[in-house]
Amino acid sequence: MKYALVTGASRGLGKATAIRLAKDGFSVIINYQSNKEAAEDTLRQIEENGGQGELLPFDVSSAEAIEKALESWSAAHPDDYISVLVNNAGIRQDNLMIFMQEDQWNRVIDTTLNGFFYITRRLLKDMMTHRSGRIINMASLSGLKGMPGQTNYSAAKAALIGATKALAQEVAARKVTVNAVAPGFISTDMTKELNEAELKKLVPLGRFGKPEEVAALVSFLASDDAAYITGQVISINGGLYT
Ligand code: NAP
Repeated sequence: MKYALVTGASRGLGKATAIRLAKDGFSVIINYQSNKEAAEDTLRQIEENGGQGELLPFDVSSAEAIEKALESWSAAHPDDYISVLVNNAGIRQDNLMIFMQEDQWNRVIDTTLNGFFYITRRLLKDMMTHRSGRIINMASLSGLKGMPGQTNYSAAKAALIGATKALAQEVAARKVTVNAVAPGFISTDMTKELNEAELKKLVPLGRFGKPEEVAALVSFLASDDAAYITGQVISINGGLYT
């Protein structure tokens, strides 16, 4: 059995990705922070489709919590390792820079960038030892283009893109690939307060994306067919920005 860990898999893009990777044959480790009911719903949908999964709650911004959770997972699976990691958990704390509080800055950086660092560093060794691994980082259009009101979020996602490119070169010789996905506007809880009717006019394809469309891209990057793709940032944004 191959194992895939998806962070933030209780809702939105992470949920759709977990369900998709289970359909692809992975046993999926469903991470979330606090929304147990939603995470259980992800697991229920996986099992209804005949797939396999398990819940593993932890706060991705806490090195200690990550270590504890992954240690307990390894103890319960002594002969297995996690071969696919989707660093998806993320938050928005939008504000104009002149009004931005330290807490808003730090929480976004801690979740997106430090979360990536702690979890990836922890799982990398096993992937390199087994000479097989896929790391897929959920970046954003905001990290490529920069979005006003999101200096914290744009900075975190741009840094994640830089880390993706650097790490890809470090681990390529061990057949571990590292890529980033950069979605535009996708319909999830994170975007539900936005004015979709207005914003979709900016999108050449005329609509927000669906979580399942992002999940399909992650599924491809996690597959054997994507073995020669690494260090890339793949946009999925309806043509909004290239
Ligand atoms: P969402 O619907 O708000 O879901 C966020 C998920 O992340 C939830 O499962 C949440 O868990 C989890 N999470 C948040 N903080 C966490 C933490 N500290 N530790 C563990 N899990 C945590 O968001 P989404 O729209 O699916 O976004 C997913 C990713 O895609 C994010 O990285 C986001 O930046 C990126 N993205 C989204 C869009 C978009 O248009 N939606 C566009 C570009 C990029 P709980 O349920 O327990 O709170």
